Amino acid sequence: MQVPAPFEYERATSVDHAIALMERLGSEARVVAGGHSLLPMMKLRLATPEYLIDINDLSAELEYIRIEGAEVRIGALTRHRQLLESDDLAAVLPIFRDAEKVIADPVVRNRGTLGGSLCQADPSEDLSAVCDAVGASCVIRNSSGDRVVSMDDFHRGPYETAVADGEMLTEIRIPLRPGSSSAYHKVERRAGDWAVASAGAAVTMDGDVIADGRVGLCAVGPNLTNIEPISAALRGQPPSAELYAIVGQIAADNAEPSTDTRGTAAYKTHLAKELTIRSLRKAVARATGQA
Ligand SMILES: Cc1cc2nc3c(=O)[nH]c(=O)nc-3n(C[C@H](O)[C@H](O)[C@H](O)COP(=O)(O)OP(=O)(O)OC[C@H]3O[C@@H](n4cnc5c(N)ncnc54)[C@H](O)[C@@H]3O)c2cc1C
Repeated sequence: MQVPAPFEYERATSVDHAIALMERLGSEARVVAGGHSLLPMMKLRLATPEYLIDINDLSAELEYIRIEGAEVRIGALTRHRQLLESDDLAAVLPIFRDAEKVIADPVVRNRGTLGGSLCQADPSEDLSAVCDAVGASCVIRNSSGDRVVSMDDFHRGPYETAVADGEMLTEIRIPLRPGSSSAYHKVERRAGDWAVASAGAAVTMDGDVIADGRVGLCAVGPNLTNIEPISAALRGQPPSAELYAIVGQIAADNAEPSTDTRGTAAYKTHLAKELTIRSLRKAVARATGQA
């Protein structure tokens, strides 16, 4: 039986309370949200926090999906299930529903959160690739107030983020632009498994050309954030099979996967290319009303 090391436990009653506890307890304190990543790591003794601060009572402050003008704001405690089921979110950012359909199983989706997924910073975390693709910003709060960082700055490396001791991720902000859409494709060994590889794409069309495009990749390297050469290749170009092939190759060239039980590095590199092509094609089709 796997048993975590002993720890103290406290339920936060507000975000301010959680932050005050973390400030007081320092680097030995960890927030627990859905617990689907942290608790398995504690059972394996890969994480041994002395204090757990449970934020599950903070749904009034942290669990929401708000579409306000040209921006979507999602609270850090929003569950996978809510991201999957929100028709309003799917209407403006279909990439979330695409991804959530293939993340884990209902048990994990009922509890696991957007904030926990991003803060875990596992290079195989699907929502990190989604947030990269859509150009999300992360709101990090400490006792002095909020700071907003881009996804590029949020992920510092595998299992490492810009959230420091005494801080919490509270919200994700995603800009909405007219003429934009998005899509996500994943290859998994069986339903509910982590990705062998996956790719998300978001595009903004200006008439017949791609005004802006971004791709986020998952499970093919250490927290690959948006790949700027892909965006540069897409900018101002009309969509075509040739363009997608060029961009797919850039994705493959930037992938640094390792061979493991899910597949060989060569297979994952191939998937980085193919899944980039597929998600771009679908995002463009959606943005132009053809899907
Ligand atoms: C069987 C299984 C299959 C899975 N399959 C997939 C999959 O296919 N794709 C996928 O992407 N994920 C998968 N997951 C992971 C799942 O999505 C988790 O829910 C997610 O990784 C973590 O979310 P959580 O809310 O459970 O975080 P927790 O486990 O509670 O926390 C994870 C980390 O984030 C920190 N944290 C949490 N919230 C905050 C916050 N607001 N501010 C600061 N720090 C915070 C915690 O301190 C901890 O370090 C799977 C998990 C399981 C158990």
